[in-house]
Amino acid sequence: MTHAVTAPPAVTLPIAGSEETYPVRRIWCVGRNYAAHAREMGSDPDREPPFFFQKPTDAIVQNGEAIPYPPGTGNLHYEIELVVAIGKAGFKIPAEKALEHVYGYAVGLDMTRRDLQNAAKDTGRPWEMGKAFDRSAPCSEIQPASKIGHPEAGAIWLKVDGAIKQESDISHLIWNVSETIAHLSDLVELQPGDLIYTGTPEGVGPVVAGEVMEGHVDGVGDIRTPVTDPA
Ligand code: MN
Repeated sequence: MTHAVTAPPAVTLPIAGSEETYPVRRIWCVGRNYAAHAREMGSDPDREPPFFFQKPTDAIVQNGEAIPYPPGTGNLHYEIELVVAIGKAGFKIPAEKALEHVYGYAVGLDMTRRDLQNAAKDTGRPWEMGKAFDRSAPCSEIQPASKIGHPEAGAIWLKVDGAIKQESDISHLIWNVSETIAHLSDLVELQPGDLIYTGTPEGVGPVVAGEVMEGHVDGVGDIRTPVTDPA
């Protein structure tokens, strides 16, 4: 079979301690999943059902790779997040079975053109141009759950040029990993290769060209992403 136009490249992430790679299929993101972040965004942090949005696989940026400051924004924000890597397909997965569908975990950045996202909120329009743009989802290598287990607590933080900006604990997730998988798989059939960015804690803010973001989740790993001048 030959294609009429250039076929999209396979997007993969490295797996810690393995020659194998993790093929990325879809990138799901959870909105407002830490109460203190929901509050800073002007929302009620009560346990309303989680909501989801998506990024294309083109959004993936490998750990250590720089991202050029993206077009169309003057307010690019970092959001440090625990990332879940799905390993087994499932539809309407009960929360008590959800972890059986997890291959592993990673540390990711849900980069956000906050000015465009806020304009979309104000006008009732889709979030895509605020969230789903090129190189908006840096992600670390995957740590297999077979090695690290399923982290339920541990520090999550983000520094810009060495200064701490976000600092919380993944135990503060409003909807934990199992519950998030249960909710999301009620809406779509999850597939191997699906990543779930589980939401960011409080302290989001802007980053500019020349700065370096460094993020961490205890027991999962680290990510480092410099921001360079616009392409
Ligand atoms: Mn986010």
